[in-house]
Amino acid sequence: MAIPHSHYFLLVYLTLLFSSSLLSASAASSPQDEQDTPITRFQSYLRINTAHPHPDYSSAVSFLTSQANSIHGIHHRTLEFSPGKPVFLLTWPGSHPSLPSLLFNSHLDSVPAEPSKWLHPPFDAVRTSDGKIYARGAQDDKCIGMQYIEAIRNLRERNFTPARTIHVCYVPDEEIGGFDGAARFVDSKEFEELNVGFMLDEGQASPGDEFRVFYADRSPWEVKIKAIGPPGHGSTMYDNSAMENLINSCEVVSRFRESQFDVVKSGKAANSQVISVNPVYIKAGVPSPTGFVMNVQPSEAEAGFDLRLPPTADPDEMRRRIALEWAPPTRNMSFEIKEKGPLRDNMGRPMMTPTDDSNPWWLVFEKAITSAGGRLAKPEILASTTDSKYLRRKGIPVLGFSPMTNTPILLHEHNEHLQDTVYMRGIKIYESVISSLSSFTH
Ligand SMILES: [Zn+2]
Repeated sequence: MAIPHSHYFLLVYLTLLFSSSLLSASAASSPQDEQDTPITRFQSYLRINTAHPHPDYSSAVSFLTSQANSIHGIHHRTLEFSPGKPVFLLTWPGSHPSLPSLLFNSHLDSVPAEPSKWLHPPFDAVRTSDGKIYARGAQDDKCIGMQYIEAIRNLRERNFTPARTIHVCYVPDEEIGGFDGAARFVDSKEFEELNVGFMLDEGQASPGDEFRVFYADRSPWEVKIKAIGPPGHGSTMYDNSAMENLINSCEVVSRFRESQFDVVKSGKAANSQVISVNPVYIKAGVPSPTGFVMNVQPSEAEAGFDLRLPPTADPDEMRRRIALEWAPPTRNMSFEIKEKGPLRDNMGRPMMTPTDDSNPWWLVFEKAITSAGGRLAKPEILASTTDSKYLRRKGIPVLGFSPMTNTPILLHEHNEHLQDTVYMRGIKIYESVISSLSSFTH
């Protein structure tokens, strides 16, 4: 039977499609993936879609409950400070329960993913033949959530007994600010009762051989400046129009931005150690059906900036600069600052966890990494922000740490993935960190 040309191509196409999907299915799920191993358990956790705007927290908590139940002697409970936003807490009681406890934190949620931009579907947790596990959350931060559990499982199996009580918590909504998650948890009676002495939270991957560690976060400020002025005919030039005032301010902001950026470019400071300023919008003009009216000078103009302040910055000085230089009333300007997090703790100190001899937790942590065969890079300020701020604000020391070396930084990006061997090494690193910190009794 003769096949018309167009049908022939369709047939070839379908055959190719069918055989290629068979091939990718066999590559994606080899027999080892069906066994219950640390890697398959990690994949199972990654397959639960906890991306915003509709994170499936209840499935994540059921999965973590089953994991906690599979380890003898580990307690767990689910707290809820906002409806539908659970905090899952796992506890391994220490032999000296009066000592301040340790807390290991991770967040349940993740940012959304655009599946069409990914090599593998972002919630399939495909493990490629060369050992890369692709999933939203593979680096940020479901890896650490599962590594904590696996490390505890291994330590339990070796009959390790912690002196200090160990808590592991899984909080909702970190990616949208943590207001209904860590913020409420940390302010609760339940948190107070944990008597936390030290916390480890998420960090970031390191493209090199050294583990990165973070002793502070930067605090985001949303700054809007607005100019008003007389509207007018487009044929006349006059002083103090809204657009003229806004543009003058944008030049002032731009010079400040350059002064900060120059410090980074000259190598005198890391990006996260300066005040970063990025313009995000400019709003002005009188709309017309085809765009904007071109012969009217607008009476209002507004611009928005995303600022990130390290804890070393002086917030009063920055507020003064914005009020007097960026949006001076003498140029008919006003401003609004939304400070998205604190820069000072409850005692008024800059929110930084010491990474020197003055902090005994630091010394034990550093030694635990070395004795597990790892090396720490020079401690850094995190360029962005995490839930750590809620504990640092209370004066509790927190380090940000995710044990991923030789790994591209892919958090929030397309094709987020983690190498299986890097994941497995991270479990060993946490075994050392958890056993050392929980044995330290001074
Ligand atoms: Zn994260």
